[in-house]
Amino acid sequence: MHEMAVCNELLAQVRASAVQHGARSVATITVRIGALSGVEPDLLERAFTIARAGDYTDQARLVIETIGVRIRCRACGNENDAAANRLLCSACGGYTVDLVGGDELLLASIELQGIPDAERSNQGENAQGENSYV
Ligand SMILES: [Zn+2]
Repeated sequence: MHEMAVCNELLAQVRASAVQHGARSVATITVRIGALSGVEPDLLERAFTIARAGDYTDQARLVIETIGVRIRCRACGNENDAAANRLLCSACGGYTVDLVGGDELLLASIELQGIPDAERSNQGENAQGENSYV
């Protein structure tokens, strides 16, 4: 299952972050999944309940934010939302479009627990947006 591999990679990043911050455990993991990312939220959720067993993450909760498809038309430059199976410009009907959103798979944030006082100012921060893992 593809989602299990994604999950394991995700959890490796999360555990590394927990170690880095000296946290006792991970409370919540938030991921952003685009409609065209190739990952099924349901399957990811299911994989997560198995993959989370182990250090730091066995009590962690997974929050999945889904992101719609966004395209830009090469003919007229218009940008609009689109259905995953219908990538058409809403302004001119053109189908030569670039994908500008919807294929992402991002670790959005991690909520850590049991961080020592010296590290506490870092709580809540983490891997904002940039951190693609596929
Ligand atoms: Zn257009």
